[in-house]
Amino acid sequence: MVSWRQFSIKRHFCSVCNAVRPMVRLDNNEISARCTVCRSTSITLSLVAALNEIRPNFTNLSCYELSARGPLLNYLNKHGSDVRCSEYYQQITPGGYFQGVQCQDVQSLTYANQSFDLCTSTEVFEHVPDDHRGFAEICRVLKPGGVFVFTVPLHEMDKTVERARLIEPGKLEHLLVPEYHLDPIRGHEPILVYRNYGQDIVSRLLAAGFAHAEIKPIKSTPWAFITPVVIAYRDEGDI
Ligand SMILES: [Zn+2]
Repeated sequence: MVSWRQFSIKRHFCSVCNAVRPMVRLDNNEISARCTVCRSTSITLSLVAALNEIRPNFTNLSCYELSARGPLLNYLNKHGSDVRCSEYYQQITPGGYFQGVQCQDVQSLTYANQSFDLCTSTEVFEHVPDDHRGFAEICRVLKPGGVFVFTVPLHEMDKTVERARLIEPGKLEHLLVPEYHLDPIRGHEPILVYRNYGQDIVSRLLAAGFAHAEIKPIKSTPWAFITPVVIAYRDEGDI
């Protein structure tokens, strides 16, 4: 849907293309602003900008991205080495494949300890029932010096608000009015938001085993959108 009052095209540096590109804004929100060449939205553009800042040369880094398509995965495939990716499919045993894509549950990854230098995800963790286990699993599969760079919808409030929880497998309790996001992988089937993250996401990452974490606010398009990118370091002293 295009809001013609918001429609705008401007040339701007694209962190994914690594070149000045025409960028388009279709509406007044950050996923409506994108590079017209690589199709990255401001979420991916900001994540890659943050990544370039902390790991300017990641050519030899092994990478794991928690989705199986999109401009971020293309970027990692182009610049990283040994790139793995996955999706979560309820009907597939983790580690198995569905239509050529590996299934992983981030709460219990099938990868060995210390498998990757870099893990990435965009707008995933708000949908993970037990994010503490998910963060701990990412930390486990990172190599020494490894880093987790990701985005979630992040709110100004200090404390994360839990919206739903699993009391036991398959038994869901809603604590607030259910909130859903559309999931392009599963044919735009809405997926439940378990929580709205606040600024305490940093302490939640530390509680799950990371040595250091920070939130980097990044402006990656010519418009006013600021995307907070979360960076979690496996080890102390790597800031
Ligand atoms: Zn681009």
